[in-house]
Amino acid sequence: MDFVSTHPALRRQGKQADRLAEIYQQLGRLWEFLALQCNHKAGWRKTREGHHVCRACGTVRGTTEGWILLSHNGTKKIGCKLSPNSKKTFRNKREATIVKDTIEFHGAKVHVDVHNSYRSRLFRDSTLDIAVSAERIARLEEDGIECSIDSHIASLKLRKHRRGERPPYGAFIWELPNRRLQKFPLMLEYDNRGELVQVSILRQVRSEDQPGQKARRS
Ligand SMILES: [Zn+2]
Repeated sequence: MDFVSTHPALRRQGKQADRLAEIYQQLGRLWEFLALQCNHKAGWRKTREGHHVCRACGTVRGTTEGWILLSHNGTKKIGCKLSPNSKKTFRNKREATIVKDTIEFHGAKVHVDVHNSYRSRLFRDSTLDIAVSAERIARLEEDGIECSIDSHIASLKLRKHRRGERPPYGAFIWELPNRRLQKFPLMLEYDNRGELVQVSILRQVRSEDQPGQKARRS
């Protein structure tokens, strides 16, 4: 990096200078990835500005890191389990947010949203506002099905609500007539104490999803 940054061609404008500047950017990124593997054992050096900087990799202590390095083998772990941490009601969602992050993992999407309580307008352009309660919500999306879990409800959404469409009806199972229930491919599993253990929905397999056909195609 020193060789590139002190190259005489950089003092003039031109193709070679642009190229060297580009190489320097790439080296910088590479250095950032290498620094992720540093355990900063070489100790910290104090800069003139008062920052503590790793003697080996140059990482500034106490700054948030822009990259995450994951091991190829074994369980990948990013962050730790966070929960709401304040009784205060914040002015808006941004101030109340603790973490809001998404990862796409081998085709499945996982989203985690943890926030404290905040005030939110009931409708757009309205002056009425409500306090949204503090919550930790985790959501998984796969094949158009969304599984969402918060502290009150674990739900499976099979189909997204389309704009302009009537919102779906909602009811407890015992409130529904048999003729309706018979159309739902729903199974409830319970243990010998009568406690609910699992809710399963039988999916209708679309012909394009059948593994046999896929194998033939490829
Ligand atoms: Zn270091």
